[in-house]
Order: sequence, then structure tokens, then C-alpha cells
Amino acid sequence: MLRALVVSLGRVRHELARLRRPKPDRVCATCGEPFYGFDLYMVSDALWQDIRTRAGIESDDVVCLHCASLHLGRPLRLEDFSPAPVNRTIRVAWWFAMQAREKNSE
Ligand SMILES: [Zn+2]
Repeated sequence: MLRALVVSLGRVRHELARLRRPKPDRVCATCGEPFYGFDLYMVSDALWQDIRTRAGIESDDVVCLHCASLHLGRPLRLEDFSPAPVNRTIRVAWWFAMQAREKNSE
């Protein structure tokens, strides 16, 4: 009886956690990780074509940054990202990372 109650409570907690999570806008076409609006980014058209070809995905699919790097066979660089406003957070984060790197090397 107690075990059944514990199992039921576990299921309820799991279901509540699932309902609290925001619904992802998309999922990564490679790894299936949820993709939210704030995860969106844009790379140059040529690079996206390269990633798509290597990944074998459709043009309206999305891949997470990690999988994009895996398909490319190298880490993404700042110049890979398009100047689109959606990349503003990436550029700001990059700037802070470079500042921290310079400070650490002093
Ligand atoms: Zn992925």
C-alpha cells in the first residue's frame, strides 16, 4: 500500500514537472533536444547549407549549436553567425567571454 502510494506520488511529481516545463518551439533534428525561442540562432547561408548537407536535414529543420559544431567538424566561430538580431545575445556573450579571457591572460 505504502509502495503504491510512493509510486503514485512519483508519477504525479513527474507529470507536474512535465507540465511546468515550457513547451519547446522545435527540437534539434539531430539529437532531439528541445529548442526554445531563446535557443535560436542564424549562421551564414553558405554555412547553413554546409550543415544541412552534412546532417542530411530539411531546410526548415533546426539543429542545436552543439550538433551544428559536430556536423561542421569544428567549433562555431563568431564570424559564422549572421548579423541578424536573433544573434545579439550570442555576440554579447562572446564579447564577455573575450573580456574574461583578456583579463585572465594579464
Ligand atoms: Zn542537437
